[in-house]
Amino acid sequence: MNKKKINFIVYALIFIFVFAVIIYAGKFYTFGKFIMGVEYKTFDIRQNIILPHKKNNDNIVIIAVDDPSYEYIAEKFGTWPVPRGFWAKLINGLEKAHPKFIAFDLLFTKRLGALVEGDLKLVDAVKDNQNVYLSMNFDNYPPQIRKPPILPENLKINLKNDEIIKKSPILNFSNCRNAMDELLEVTSNFGFINVTRDDDGIIRYIAPLFYYRDAYYPNLTTLIALKYLNIDPNKIYIQNNALVLDDNHKIPLNPDGRTIVNWYGREGTFEHISLWEVDDAINRGDLKYLKEKFENKIIYIGTTVTALADIKSTPVSFMYPGVETHATFLNNILDNNFISHFSFKADLLVSAILCFIIGFCILRFESVLYSLLCSIAAVIVYLVITVVVMEFFNVWLGIVLPLIAATLIFIAAYITKYLLKSKDYEHTYKLAVTDGLTEMYNHRYFQEQMIMNVENVTRYGGNFSLILIDIDFFKKFNDKHGHQSGDAVLRQVAQTIKKNIRTSDIACRYGGEEMSIILTNTNKDDAKIVAKKVWSAVRERKFELADGNWANVTISVGVASMPNNGSNPQELIDYADKCLYVAKQNGRDQVVSEINQNQP
Ligand code: GH3
Ligand code: MG
Ligand code: MG
Repeated sequence: MNKKKINFIVYALIFIFVFAVIIYAGKFYTFGKFIMGVEYKTFDIRQNIILPHKKNNDNIVIIAVDDPSYEYIAEKFGTWPVPRGFWAKLINGLEKAHPKFIAFDLLFTKRLGALVEGDLKLVDAVKDNQNVYLSMNFDNYPPQIRKPPILPENLKINLKNDEIIKKSPILNFSNCRNAMDELLEVTSNFGFINVTRDDDGIIRYIAPLFYYRDAYYPNLTTLIALKYLNIDPNKIYIQNNALVLDDNHKIPLNPDGRTIVNWYGREGTFEHISLWEVDDAINRGDLKYLKEKFENKIIYIGTTVTALADIKSTPVSFMYPGVETHATFLNNILDNNFISHFSFKADLLVSAILCFIIGFCILRFESVLYSLLCSIAAVIVYLVITVVVMEFFNVWLGIVLPLIAATLIFIAAYITKYLLKSKDYEHTYKLAVTDGLTEMYNHRYFQEQMIMNVENVTRYGGNFSLILIDIDFFKKFNDKHGHQSGDAVLRQVAQTIKKNIRTSDIACRYGGEEMSIILTNTNKDDAKIVAKKVWSAVRERKFELADGNWANVTISVGVASMPNNGSNPQELIDYADKCLYVAKQNGRDQVVSEINQNQP
């Protein structure tokens, strides 16, 4: 297998490893929560970036029970909640302007005392105007506090094939804050106004349907939308993770049965008209004003008074009126303008693509700077794509998971790249300093080590020795047994030498059939012992030849030491060489470590 293929396999393995780690970590609750928490923030940022390009539906308006209205009511009636006759008068007054719907994001809960005139007036107003919508709230209060009410049949929605909402723990309720009985008797226009917050307290999702005591109930807004679009509530169904209202209106559902609210603006997205102004206009009989404001409009009536606590934190504002959340949801349904959040699997796929690009950058560019810049560019392009995709395709692409994967890949790829490189480097270095035939160090390395040892001894004192070895009559040996057998003997002599020295000693091929050993921190006497040991080891063993036969060889050995025999590499080599010469002269097969100064 060639190097490129091996590298490719290594990188592929890293890729798989990184993804296995992410998938494995994804199974841990806290890791998932952490990822989701940060991912939520990226969603919020994206919503805020695309907000200026959004346009809400002008036909949805808010009658706001705002701070001035609260004061106005307190002045007028001296109580809160205001007597229900007030709301009857408001409905009747608004109806003169022919609004499309009047939806109360306010609760008309069970009466505590006797039925009073105002209650009866409200019941009549609701009864007479079937475009008035009222709300209730589910909760999970224990039955000791409040007996769970049995809700009228006509409030239910007949939903088949549901595997999402029923099983969703956050949409499955055990109790309900019931409306005034007399209202339930005159209208079935009741929707539910529960909202759910994420762990950070921010509302990003809303539920179109709820489940209570074996039946489905609509969100107030779902009910209004169905009426507006003229859809039979009992014909809606769930398919492909979406609540299908009709062919053109589908609400995508999360695994928990909720959908993402697609925001249109910061607080005051929809036109707010103060309740007190409306009441004032009704009292004045100002039909022109009322028509101008409310004719054909969908009116949500809700509180924006901070004291009444119907203020929510949303991605677009920390002080967003709850009633506007409902209006936004209605706007989303009417425009069929919902964001789909891709699954964990899709996030993994996107991560894989991003990692692939970054991996390519790292392989493509030798320079760390370039591959870093290229990777950062890839990430920035991806971030821009996520914003564009959210704005134009209503898709929430994951950011956190792909970014984590990209970072891991970047780090892992670099570590691997350097490991492979250093392995390469080691290999090249080894090639540069060793002799191919004997696998001893080569002559160049020998020279370097000689210089280093001389420098060390010169600077720090101490000693070191050099042994030169020459095989006897090797020319003849070659002539007799062949060059290949000569090579085999050279290899085996090298092995024998290595076996008889310490690891700190450096065995080199000096050239041809000559070898050398540098013995660091070794004095002459000890060097002589090593020389003898090597010499006898060679003469006592047999060497295998190329043809399978065995033969003996002998060596002549010369020894030199610093400081005894010289003070630079050349002097030491010359001395050892002279010893070798003497050994040859004296009949070979011996160690010579001293020369008579008179000898040549
Ligand atoms: P002596 O040293 O005992 O005086 O005799 P010698 O025959 O060994 O003499 P010399 O050092 O002049 O000859 C060296 C020979 O070693 C020459 C060459 O045939 C042989 N030789 C050198 N390098 C190699 C090698 O790499 N492989 C083989 N097979 N032979 C080599
Ligand atoms: Mg020689
Ligand atoms: Mg020789």
